[in-house]
Amino acid sequence: MKVMADPMDKKEAIVEEDLFRDRIATVDKSGKRIWIYPKKPKGPWYNKRKWLSYFLLILLFGFPFLQWKGQPLMLFNVLDSEFILFGFPFTTQDFHIFVIAMLIGMIFIALFTVIYGRVFCGWICPQTIFMEMVFRRIEYWIEGDARAQKKLDQAPWTPDKVLKKGSKHLLFILISILIAHTFLSYIIGIDKLWVLLSDPVSQHWSGFVAMIVFTILFYGVFSIMREQVCTTICPYGRMQSVLLDKNSLAVSYDFVRGEPRGKKKRAQKLPKAPCTNACENCKTTSSSCSSDSVDHFIPLETIQTIGDCVDCNLCVQVCPTGIDIRNGTQLECVNCTACMDACDEVMIKIDREPGLIRIDSYNGIKEGKKTIWTKRAWAYSVVLVLLIGLESFMFASRSEVECLFLRTPGMSYQDRGDGYIGNLYNYQLINKTRQDYPVQFTIEDIPGVRFETIGADPIAQDNKVSEGAVFIHIPKEQLNERKMNLKIQVISGDEVIETTKTTFFSPIK
Ligand code: SF4
Ligand code: SF4
Repeated sequence: MKVMADPMDKKEAIVEEDLFRDRIATVDKSGKRIWIYPKKPKGPWYNKRKWLSYFLLILLFGFPFLQWKGQPLMLFNVLDSEFILFGFPFTTQDFHIFVIAMLIGMIFIALFTVIYGRVFCGWICPQTIFMEMVFRRIEYWIEGDARAQKKLDQAPWTPDKVLKKGSKHLLFILISILIAHTFLSYIIGIDKLWVLLSDPVSQHWSGFVAMIVFTILFYGVFSIMREQVCTTICPYGRMQSVLLDKNSLAVSYDFVRGEPRGKKKRAQKLPKAPCTNACENCKTTSSSCSSDSVDHFIPLETIQTIGDCVDCNLCVQVCPTGIDIRNGTQLECVNCTACMDACDEVMIKIDREPGLIRIDSYNGIKEGKKTIWTKRAWAYSVVLVLLIGLESFMFASRSEVECLFLRTPGMSYQDRGDGYIGNLYNYQLINKTRQDYPVQFTIEDIPGVRFETIGADPIAQDNKVSEGAVFIHIPKEQLNERKMNLKIQVISGDEVIETTKTTFFSPIK
């Protein structure tokens, strides 16, 4: 393949075979998978990524153990429609808050991608973190660097190979089991997970099967699927082509500085030029002239005819998705920065400025422009701020116990004969927390109102919808219209935990 001068400008491009545009780097002509053996990355960017990964892994494995107000800090129980986000419980009644939160998430990702490219993939995505910082590192530890891994794969089965492959896959399975348990603890909560683990398997067949399925899934993803998840399955990766523009930051090769690529030539001597000094009575050749005052030679000179890229291919060798970033931004690039570290090391060795591959935009490289706040980025930001405002309002105005008061269908008002008119209601108490709330009802602005509960006293049971029926009796002298609006307060202890509205019918004309 010939070199491209500018990966995004077709007119300037000198390309004989744009094969990277026709098929992904991990699939050959016949459609078969090409297994990637990325060289072990090292360097300052990798170190930063490593520390961030440790922090995120601690959060991921630690969250299920954290509790607040007696309930998990995070819970995504899709089976029982029970969700807790940073200690705040949500139920299906809060679906609208979820929908807005999802929209915010999507716009945030879009905005983030428009400005910072696919940085989420390389630095925050659990798939990349587990793959590159856990599974791949175990592989390097047991099987060695890329070349040793390839050699081992091609070698016949010997006791050494069996030992290496066996121990690697055993560790992979154990870590997959750990991830599966963690994943399940986010769904059912750590307490239920302990029960599931301590009871005999026969009592929790469904939980046991779920664990096996998740373990197989994670093992398959990290030992077989690997980069295919990012390059062919993940929908976020597929969205890149519509989200990125020429001002988006991404891991980019500086084609202006790097091209034409090639091996650096050593300092060369230019041919000696014939002496033109024409000294008087000179009979010698310029090379044998002993005169110090005469300069016969053109000085030694280094000829720099090529760009800074020495075509060492190291940036390709370290890439976990097997691409050549010098071909320009590609869907497969997860912005892991491994190629930046590799290239910087080369640049330092050959005494060039690091940053030939760096985080920059296309316009930043081609024209030196650093504009990332484009009209599109501003538009996304405005929508994002509006949605965050709306979400904050809905969040602030939601209550953890909700109450519904509906007049019992088919029932009219009742004249009690003691100066009171009564209406019968069905109430619903929706408790999103994990604690019971015994409650009372009052109407603050109408004196003399009586509540007469039918059956047991009202109680908002933990994480349930509790129902009951109650009469509201209002003194006749307080009634001033046929259909009155009532504002009912739900009180637990001394605290008003919810306020709800309903209507009251009376014989007043
Ligand atoms: S690592 Fe740098 S110098 Fe080597 S091929 Fe890649 S871009 Fe060129
Ligand atoms: S091109 Fe560079 S940043 Fe992109 S995936 Fe490959 S190594 Fe990582």
